Amino acid sequence: MHSTIMNFPLTIPHILQRAERYFPDREVVSLIPAGVNEAGQPIPGKHKYTYRQMAARARQLANALKEAGIQKGDRVATFAVNHFRHLEAYFGIPIAGAVLHTVNVRLHPEQLVYIINHAQDRILLIDNVFARMLPALLPHCPSIEKVVIMGPTPQSIPGMLDYDQWIGAQPTTFDFPELDENDPAGMCYTSGTTGHPKGVVYSHRSTVLHSLASALPDALNLKHADSLLPVVPMFHVNAWGLPYTATMVGAKQVFASVFSDGASLAKLLSEEQCTRTAGVPTIWMGLLQEVERAIQAGTPYDLSKLEMLVVGGSAAPESLIRAGDKLGLHLFHAWGMTETHPLGTCASVPVGVDVESDEGYHYRAKQGIPVPLVEIRAVDGDLNEVPHDGKTMGALLVRGAWVSQEYYNNPEGSRATQVRLDDQVWFDTGDIITIDEEGYMAIQDRAKDLIKSGGEWISSVDLENALMGHPAIAEAAVIATPHPRWEERPLGVLVVKPGQEQPSREDLNAFLAEKFAKWWLPDAYVFVEQIPRTTVGKFLKRALRDQFKDFRLE
Ligand code: ADP
Repeated sequence: MHSTIMNFPLTIPHILQRAERYFPDREVVSLIPAGVNEAGQPIPGKHKYTYRQMAARARQLANALKEAGIQKGDRVATFAVNHFRHLEAYFGIPIAGAVLHTVNVRLHPEQLVYIINHAQDRILLIDNVFARMLPALLPHCPSIEKVVIMGPTPQSIPGMLDYDQWIGAQPTTFDFPELDENDPAGMCYTSGTTGHPKGVVYSHRSTVLHSLASALPDALNLKHADSLLPVVPMFHVNAWGLPYTATMVGAKQVFASVFSDGASLAKLLSEEQCTRTAGVPTIWMGLLQEVERAIQAGTPYDLSKLEMLVVGGSAAPESLIRAGDKLGLHLFHAWGMTETHPLGTCASVPVGVDVESDEGYHYRAKQGIPVPLVEIRAVDGDLNEVPHDGKTMGALLVRGAWVSQEYYNNPEGSRATQVRLDDQVWFDTGDIITIDEEGYMAIQDRAKDLIKSGGEWISSVDLENALMGHPAIAEAAVIATPHPRWEERPLGVLVVKPGQEQPSREDLNAFLAEKFAKWWLPDAYVFVEQIPRTTVGKFLKRALRDQFKDFRLE
């Protein structure tokens, strides 16, 4: 017997056509540089248009790609921040059957050259603010045939192909090629803390399913009525897939391009009546500070419409979630990674639990349970599931409808992360977690960041999150440092809040002792101006390990 249901392909053109047909007048707003002030800083200006215009221009882009000889499966790279032209590329490239390769603009030129060559990108759409990097890249990237200056400002660069002119010459109608839902649609490289960056290739199907799941009420609860500002960059894991999810449901989209400081974000969120936003914890630390400052100055922002600040990419400390609530900024914890598109788990609280009670914070500080169509396991070294007691640590394995099972053209990297369990292939995330009785997972560490003391594991993330709850501490990172007897011991690297005294080790450890066993407490603390950040604003512990590699405990 056969089912009687149509075999309807899950492809990106459907998302675009739906938005255009049913939400043609919904807005896309971009804050873009509109000149510079006397100090040479960009002055923001606003660009506004609708899904109707976005879709027409995406089709013009698809025509331009076709005319340039782009074939099905060819890679077209973007090197750009968040703005409406980048959104057009998110659709124009895959609807043409090509693969959108979003290149992380903050990588070192050597890594950029590696990535572009590995992906064999044929066309590069690049923001004019990054054009100065072209001389360092192009001579080493022979696959690139054409460079188009894309945004974020409308100014073109003399002698270079200008995006608006290039697509402007094309018709707004487009002959959609036949696409299979399993055709590749997008490509991202993981930042690669060790070795070369590794490429993950998303399909049309995975993109559509991921969008559906992330819009669910217990996930990001994204709908037509929402106004969404994804702070997370479009060059990093497709801005967590949000440009696709938002277009699918017809939400208003707001982009901040180069303006991601607390004050610019607060102003934009308020002006555009945003209901949802998404970013890494360091972005929200900046926003909270600015919102608090404005309240104290008697000039508060109107963020009354803002219901949810999605936080992920690294763990949000409970103290940050509590501090946000006090200002009416409600953080919502999600976990994921490039290999998982990225949405894997979300921390909505169980039924009957008040989100602002101690119990509520207990759940909200965890990374939560998997969204539908994603499965997780926590296993020990012999691949046995560890007990769900909220205490026993295990390696996080994941599988699901949008989880990558290998890396592009990288058999060695692929083998290193594939695990066979219960006759299925799972992806070994490299994260160490606990799972509690309710199934909520809590990230304890990256496997490489765990501190091994006398054969036992100490979670640096747990210590960091607790330290960031100390009244004098703004930022905390905990790293392993060699120890003659215990092998490794924790070292706390701290940033003090402005105007606060440096607390003593005794004071800090007395503060931690309320929550942790004595043997977990850091043996020493050092104070720094700022914790180094990764390209996407996470704490860069590798840099700290290098910086303090000669640090010795007595
Ligand atoms: P990279 O950081 O290497 O660029 P990703 O952006 O894909 O790669 O990051 C994935 C990693 O970020 C996860 O494996 C996990 O360690 C960490 N991460 C993501 N979300 C969270 C979260 N909510 N809490 C803690 N860690 C997180």
